[in-house]
Amino acid sequence: MAFTLPALPYAHDALEPSIDTLTMQIHHGKHHQAYVDNLNKALAGTPNEGKTIEEIVVIAGTLPPAIRNNGGGHWNHSFFWETLAPNAGGTPTGALADAINAAFGTFEAFKEKFSAAGVGRFGSGWAWLILKDGKLEISSTPNQDNPLMDVAEIKGKPVLGVDVWEHAYYLKYQNKRPDYLAAFWNVVNWPKATERYEAAIK
Ligand code: MN
Repeated sequence: MAFTLPALPYAHDALEPSIDTLTMQIHHGKHHQAYVDNLNKALAGTPNEGKTIEEIVVIAGTLPPAIRNNGGGHWNHSFFWETLAPNAGGTPTGALADAINAAFGTFEAFKEKFSAAGVGRFGSGWAWLILKDGKLEISSTPNQDNPLMDVAEIKGKPVLGVDVWEHAYYLKYQNKRPDYLAAFWNVVNWPKATERYEAAIK
């Protein structure tokens, strides 16, 4: 079965003013759709057709670049839309809050380190909060790679991820990636991140 574009779990304008409507329309409807279409094209008639997206990303390094890039693009964006929510932001609670404090000292120190990973990614890519060997870590990947991939420098289970490709912020923030990353905190879906953390730590 071919992959399809998942519906956004909220309206295109729901993340205003942190992430603008036109960016969400193009990012979801054009960019993510293109990853899905190109992934389907690259898989058609190959032995990997029929695998789940998770099965594809964990062996991405052994697959042709079109499958690695578009498969990563599909997984990453599906994860990203659920990382965000309207009327969100604030601070995490419970087990995830405790784990963040244990790993980084304070929530503020965590935010600083995560934002620095996003600002410091040269060109296009992602910054991640991952669970690795039972501990939280921050990492970053180039292009559409992610920490589940066999080719990732630092492997782990993603809890949070932020897209730092220019297409994610350029219409509103232009060259000011740090401003986009500052606004990201206003729309982080902490309940979803907590759910991922609790599933990963089991
Ligand atoms: Mn993107």
